[in-house]
Amino acid sequence: MVKPIEKAAVIGSGVMGAAIAAHLAGAGISCLLLDIVPEHLTENEKKAGLTLEHPQFRNRLASSAIERLTKTNPPPLYSEAFASRITPGNLDDDLGKLADSDWIIEVVVERLDVKKSLFARIEKVWKAGTIVTSNTSGISIRAMVEERGADFKRHFLGTHFFNPPRYMKLLEVIPGETTDPAIVSYMTEFCEKRLGKGVVRAKDTPNFIANCIGTYGLLVTLREMLEKGFTVEEIDAVTGPALGRPKSATLRTLDLVGLDTFVHVARNVYDLVDGEAEKNVFEVPEVLKSMVNQGWTGEKSGQGFYKKV
Ligand code: NAD
Repeated sequence: MVKPIEKAAVIGSGVMGAAIAAHLAGAGISCLLLDIVPEHLTENEKKAGLTLEHPQFRNRLASSAIERLTKTNPPPLYSEAFASRITPGNLDDDLGKLADSDWIIEVVVERLDVKKSLFARIEKVWKAGTIVTSNTSGISIRAMVEERGADFKRHFLGTHFFNPPRYMKLLEVIPGETTDPAIVSYMTEFCEKRLGKGVVRAKDTPNFIANCIGTYGLLVTLREMLEKGFTVEEIDAVTGPALGRPKSATLRTLDLVGLDTFVHVARNVYDLVDGEAEKNVFEVPEVLKSMVNQGWTGEKSGQGFYKKV
């Protein structure tokens, strides 16, 4: 018997985590939103007399995500009840609170090492019956929890939301080889009926289905653009509105996704493919690496292929 989901916890309050929490809150599900404790105070925080121990500092990442969602980018049917369903916190102080959740969703940076060590921490406070999922773009479901216990693995699968989660209907459900089939069926129905998603079941293969095609397409487009000297405007003109796809212009999409996240996704596939031809496709172009190295991560930093004005 699967424990029904009433309370969720989202770990990672970046581009996707904050928006997934907002979507759940909009569906009436109360949600703990956790992130790591930032390492430094900002100059403004120092001037305001904050200390590293202050809760406002320790919850800064999750709190600012909620503020961004509710004050600067409120959903169409925003109400006070919406924001009050999300509780911000930080992983160090609030890890134990995960025991109250029926569903824990991992939405942290796309790195296997980070995700693996997070699941080791979660397992320590995990209560049998709680469903645990990852929003990974394409990291192996099996690999993320290979060192966890059998019962934890039975409750673990991938639920891959697409960006922006409020508007994108697609959601990939990716069972691992050890996931309990009853939990896979429950999550499929829950995501369809309660969250309004169109679920596609995917196998646990690199980048699943959508990103397997998508990453390939984006990298080939970038390479053609660089080799043939097409401009940013030209690429977006022929892949966006003029094609009847108002929101899917290639480079605007990359800015929305986050160039750093895309580099992680492409590197993960590069490491897994064999043969020179495939390696050549998935190798990240130098220009993309240097954009990320100088902090041009896309919309989240205000600068990617486009500058936020
Ligand atoms: P992001 O960079 O916006 O946010 C990542 C979050 O992870 C940050 O809030 C950061 O503080 C946190 N984090 C970093 N290191 C951590 C650590 N050691 N422990 C715990 N938390 C840590 O990234 P995002 O775009 O929200 O992506 C999150 C996940 O969702 C990734 O797995 C990504 O592949 C996946 N995803 C992203 C998109 C997209 O369009 N951006 C779409 C679908 C899936």
